[in-house]
Amino acid sequence: MIEVKNPCGNLKCDNCNSHFMQLRPGIKSFEISKHFERDLKNKIEREDIIEKILSCKVLEHEQLHKFEKSVGKNKIFRAKINGMHIVYAVTKEKQLVFMRAFINFQEYESFLNSKINNFF
Ligand SMILES: [Zn+2]
Repeated sequence: MIEVKNPCGNLKCDNCNSHFMQLRPGIKSFEISKHFERDLKNKIEREDIIEKILSCKVLEHEQLHKFEKSVGKNKIFRAKINGMHIVYAVTKEKQLVFMRAFINFQEYESFLNSKINNFF
C-alpha cells in the first residue's frame, strides 16, 4: 500500500510547480482509475510511477506536476515518466486521482481536449 505523505511540506520543492504546491498539503488520499490500471498493466511499473509522483521524485528527462487545465473545480496535471504521459487530477475533494497513462502524445492531447470532460 502506497501512503500519501507530504514530502515537500512547506519547503520550496524544486520539482513542484506553484499550482501543485498550493494543493499539495491538502491531499490526503489517492485513487487509481480502472483506465489507469488498463493503461499500465504492470503493477510494479504502475506503483513505481505513482510513488514518483507522490514523492516528487524525478530522474533526468522526467517531468512532474505540469498544470494542464481546470475541469470544473478539478485541476489536471501531467507528468512525463519513462516516456509516458501520466495524467492525474486533484479533485475538489482534494483527492489525487490517477486518470490515464499515454505513450502517444496525440492520444493524450485528444483525451485532454475532449474526453476528459466525461471523466468526472
Ligand atoms: Zn514537491
